[in-house]
Order: sequence, then structure tokens, then C-alpha cells
Amino acid sequence: MMMRQLLDAAIAARENAYAPYSAYRVGAALLTEKGKIYTGCNMENASYSATLCAERSAFSAAVSAGERRFVAIAVAGGKGEAADEMAPPCGVCHQVMAEFCDPDTFEIILGDETKVKTFTLKELFPLSFGAEELK
Ligand code: ZN
Repeated sequence: MMMRQLLDAAIAARENAYAPYSAYRVGAALLTEKGKIYTGCNMENASYSATLCAERSAFSAAVSAGERRFVAIAVAGGKGEAADEMAPPCGVCHQVMAEFCDPDTFEIILGDETKVKTFTLKELFPLSFGAEELK
């Protein structure tokens, strides 16, 4: 799976974003180790705390289908028609990624229709809280 393909899937998923309050529309495409892609979009709510990010929407779909092992997620977001150059995941979404993904190898792919940048989870979220802390 090429980064560009995964980012294009995120851009397509962004079309379904429900963002009547912020108008900041986001799509995400999550790639499993088996090569399957699960997509998600942000889903806002009048009670703001009930809002769900695109990344967690994609993880929820994948985990609900029994998936547990992931290699990359692409995220595309922005206020206008076109996605911004960079729409990094929020802290809560980083925390969800840290639950399931290897911080050294899991890739977070950001970009728009023309640019693609890739980071590891560890680069964007270097000191996560995890299961080790609960032992
Ligand atoms: Zn988020």
C-alpha cells in the first residue's frame, strides 16, 4: 500500500465528515497488517464533548470488525473544500493509536492532494501513557 493511496482514501472519507459547528472536516484511513483499509470521518455533536474524531472513528470501525494490528493511518483535514497541507491528530487520537500500535513502526501520514508527509507515532507522541504504567 502506497502512502498516496492511503491518503487518497482519507481524502475521500473526508467527504462524509459531519462538522456543522467547526466546518473543520477530517477523513482518516487506517491500514491493517492484513492490508485492509478502514475509514472514518469526524462526527461533531451539539454537545461538543460527544464529538468523535475521524481517526478514532476509523479505529472504532476496525476494532469492531476484530482488527487489532495496524501499520499506518492517513489523515486529511481542513476548513475549506481542499484538505490542509497538515492536519495532525489530536492528543486523544494519539493515545488511542498508542493502545494498539507500535510507536516505532506505526506511520501517521499527513498531507493534501499533492503533498505527503510521514511520521512515526513515536515522533508525534513520544511519551504516551500505556498498559505498562498499570502493571
Ligand atoms: Zn482526535
